[in-house]
Amino acid sequence: SPVNSPRRTELSDIFIGVKTTKRYHAERLDLLLDTWVDMSLEQTYLFTDQEDYEYNKKLHGHLINTNCSSLHTRQALCCKMSAMYDMFLESHKRWFCHVDDDNYLNVAQLVKLLQQYRHTDDVYLGKPSLSHPIEAVDRTNNMRRVSFWFATGGAGFCLSRAMALHMSPYASGGSFSSMCNRIRLPDDVTVGFIVEVLLKKKLTKVSEFNSHLEALWQIKKLDLPKQVTLSYSKGTKKYKNVITLDNRVFSDEQDPTRLKSLHCMMFPQVGECALMARP
Ligand code: UDP
Ligand code: MN
Repeated sequence: SPVNSPRRTELSDIFIGVKTTKRYHAERLDLLLDTWVDMSLEQTYLFTDQEDYEYNKKLHGHLINTNCSSLHTRQALCCKMSAMYDMFLESHKRWFCHVDDDNYLNVAQLVKLLQQYRHTDDVYLGKPSLSHPIEAVDRTNNMRRVSFWFATGGAGFCLSRAMALHMSPYASGGSFSSMCNRIRLPDDVTVGFIVEVLLKKKLTKVSEFNSHLEALWQIKKLDLPKQVTLSYSKGTKKYKNVITLDNRVFSDEQDPTRLKSLHCMMFPQVGECALMARP
């Protein structure tokens, strides 16, 4: 290939930030460690709010204590996003992707997706949870009403390095939290505000990102491996929203989220899946 042709994006070009909180560690992190995080730990960092020696050890030092508040408030979530963004900038990776700690990230599909874009272009990839742009009030611009698209944080989203660099006056070194306060909305909405309103760039909608606001149980088995992100919400029977996958490998009790089963369907030879596959 020609000397100037850009190198294809690989997993090692991606910085993956996972938002978590101390009281979810025991409940949510083992599933991640058993599945996708195990395959991408080198570029994955989890951002939490208190020390946790045990999980930090399991994660080979990739559990970052942000010292942000451990409350489920806008300030706390924005504080973690701000820490992630700053660490991404320092990492010099091509792509910044954010997911929640109840997401399953299909790392191979993520790489394929990002290979279709240039990290040197202004790219913001994700899926809105609303069918219309959100409306907000810009408190530092004469209470002007603004409307814009944003990618739901619970479905995951990605930003190219070029976009992230353009965001830097509004997002780096703690400015991100001021932008959250400027519209008084959560971290994922604030990313949309910076990209679409302040930078006048666009969200590219990718349908393969899925939060638990989607009807996860409706996704066909054949389509599951094509998704970039999936999620779950356990709740009680009526409010349970998990992917539909037979329980031949793991029972519902062993795998209530069904995501271990998905992981084993895609990677039958890896870790726990290989053990399960033995007669
Ligand atoms: N989270 C957090 N601090 C909190 C509560 C939640 O950082 O006090 C994180 C959590 O770890 C997850 C995301 O925010 O990554 C969304 O939380 P959750 O799934 O509980 O709520 P949802 O918004 O999906 O209903
Ligand atoms: Mn959630």
